[in-house]
Amino acid sequence: MLAVIWSGALAATLGCWADLPEISGLGEWLAWAGRLAGLLAGYGCAVLLGLMARVPVLDRGVGTDRLARWHAFGGRWTVGLSVLHMIFVMGAHSVKSGLAAGTIGLIVDGRHIAEATIGLVLLVGVGVVSTRAIRRLMKYEIWHYLHFFTYVAVFAGFSHQLTGPDFAGGGVARALWVTLYITVAIALLWWRFLTPVRRALRHRLRIEEIQWESPSIVSVYLSGSYLEELGAEPGQFFRWRFLAPGMWWTANPYSLSAPANPKFLRITVRTVGDHSRALARLRPGTRVCAEGPYGALTAARRSRRRVLLIGGGVGISPLRTLFETLPGQLTLVYMVRRDEDLVLRDELDVIAARRNATVHYTLDETRSVPLTGRGLRALVPDLTEHDVYICGPGGMTRAARSALRRAGVPARRIHVECFDF
Ligand SMILES: Cc1cc2nc3c(=O)[nH]c(=O)nc-3n(C[C@H](O)[C@H](O)[C@H](O)COP(=O)(O)OP(=O)(O)OC[C@H]3O[C@@H](n4cnc5c(N)ncnc54)[C@H](O)[C@@H]3O)c2cc1C
Repeated sequence: MLAVIWSGALAATLGCWADLPEISGLGEWLAWAGRLAGLLAGYGCAVLLGLMARVPVLDRGVGTDRLARWHAFGGRWTVGLSVLHMIFVMGAHSVKSGLAAGTIGLIVDGRHIAEATIGLVLLVGVGVVSTRAIRRLMKYEIWHYLHFFTYVAVFAGFSHQLTGPDFAGGGVARALWVTLYITVAIALLWWRFLTPVRRALRHRLRIEEIQWESPSIVSVYLSGSYLEELGAEPGQFFRWRFLAPGMWWTANPYSLSAPANPKFLRITVRTVGDHSRALARLRPGTRVCAEGPYGALTAARRSRRRVLLIGGGVGISPLRTLFETLPGQLTLVYMVRRDEDLVLRDELDVIAARRNATVHYTLDETRSVPLTGRGLRALVPDLTEHDVYICGPGGMTRAARSALRRAGVPARRIHVECFDF
């Protein structure tokens, strides 16, 4: 997938590279650099939106968390390139006619500069609120909805893009560029907006029952029509929108904690903040929209007969479904901070007995299974012969991954779902 994205970047800038030998003088160099930065920024915008369009083949093939990481990484570059584009182009005009005349010339030359400037300001604004330090200060939902200004930014800048030297004269390059943007727009409209509505009308999900598993963890059972058509695989998650006062405008990700079946879906949720606490108080009968299924932590990743599952806290949810359904010889390590966080234990024990699988329950405090290469090798002697599925909070998944790498497990056999975005 990354090869496709980089090839696209090369193709988008081919014309630019072809003109390189003829460039001379500072003004021409600046104009060329501005053109390259502009093309890459425009291409970056299309790719960034495409990565977040929730295209099933991407979400399942690459994994939603990895897509989000690529999106964040690409976002930083795209914002930077957009700013550089503006600086280089202004520089080129200033070299030609002086700063003031050059700037005025830029504004009046009919290249949709006003729209492009609005787009740039919005893009930079979204970039700023997405920096870790600022994002931490605001609620996830506010940050999420501010992010929607990216659509406005891209829409505002699009007409400006078509005025560049590569596209202004029409031709194949312009047609391909427009096709790229139309394809991304259709993908967004279809998978982010129309599919959830269509699914909501077809499946008519409702809360059937809420069960407390511990003082801070609930399991929510949902019923609905044609649930088998959802195609949810063990290990996957949905974004759940509960149609209750104060909750309908946010869709939070929760994994299925039991294999999907025609009668019900189940999620198991730790109450950590506003959404999850409100969710635990909802009444049976509440209507629910589910976007998904998403995620690549599925049986398709397995390449070995032996599988180790490592769950941290409520990260046990998707692993519980995989523990029941993955073929092969299974070992489960379930790590929790406190005794009361240990949930679904009865189910796990029944599955382990039925499958002749091994389960290790461990409290952080006792450190009975330290997340080190040696600790994991002591627990699972033929560790390097395993596929390993990991799910939990960021710190735990990172520690587990590096311990496994140190123990000699190849990266391609470590499959991670991280509950932090
Ligand atoms: C792929 C995935 C699967 C998950 N599965 C489960 C699960 O099965 N059980 C479970 O208990 N938790 C799960 N989580 C974590 C869960 O989504 C968050 O704990 C929950 O959204 C917190 O919302 P809140 O309002 O209660 O808490 P807040 O205090 O508002 O949020 C706590 C943190 O959760 C994250 N978060 C909040 N809202 C969202 C959102 N809409 N989308 C993404 N991240 C958000 C933010 O990083 C935030 O800092 C999963 C997360 C991901 C990414």
